Amino acid sequence: MTGRMPALFVGHGSPMNTLEDNRFTAAWRRIGQALPRPAAVLVVSAHWYLRGTAVTAMDAPRTIHDFQGFPQELFAFRYPAPGSPALAARVRELLQPLEVAADHSWGIDHGAWSVLAHLFPAADIPVVQLSIDRTRPARFHFETGERLAALRDEGVLILGSGNVVHNLGMLRWDAPEAAYDWAQRFEQAVKDRLLQRGHAALVNWEQLDAQARLAVPTPEHYLPLLYCIAVQREDEPVSFPVEGMDMGSLSMLTVGIGAIRGLQFPQP
Ligand code: ZN
Repeated sequence: MTGRMPALFVGHGSPMNTLEDNRFTAAWRRIGQALPRPAAVLVVSAHWYLRGTAVTAMDAPRTIHDFQGFPQELFAFRYPAPGSPALAARVRELLQPLEVAADHSWGIDHGAWSVLAHLFPAADIPVVQLSIDRTRPARFHFETGERLAALRDEGVLILGSGNVVHNLGMLRWDAPEAAYDWAQRFEQAVKDRLLQRGHAALVNWEQLDAQARLAVPTPEHYLPLLYCIAVQREDEPVSFPVEGMDMGSLSMLTVGIGAIRGLQFPQP
């Protein structure tokens, strides 16, 4: 490929999206078709949140079913993409002197594969995951992302997978189309800052709204966004190819960084 790969943050929502054909997954499929074919995908998933920074370095990452209480069909799902020890080594090199463990025990978690299953259903593009160090502040995650920007010129798709608003305790199972006021307000504040390239404000997400803590009770689903905006160049647009709140307190917002040719975006 030629040119710079876009970067993508995807609100993954329920793991059931893996198997469903709904408006979110249909949009993920369209995005996958519109993207230039990546040489590899580097995923920052909300579900690899631990003490320390690690990168998956195995040839054949396993599919991890890191949840409970879902149908057997979901546990049977496999995403057999290869790994890329070469990309893992490149990530470790770019992040020096930060100590980044070469991991051989994780694999591809559902934050990654629920989205990849639709973006790249053939599972033939190598996938590497980068962990989120839970002991570090938001600024660290933004700065770590900045150091990965060169990967875009090497054909690597940087894919953040989380949810801008993620409050499972307040989910409205009875009302899939519902949206709490505080959830919408926080999501709108994030979108406004994204359109203004307000990176500092997005790093200081707790200041975005008086009820930010309701929208982001724990930061792991928000932080993947910081890795994506960190690789945005001065002149690059952002886009929202998927929007909508699911069950009141789950933002399904997808954020594209850089132009994705052939995709019609809703007007922000
Ligand atoms: Zn999740």
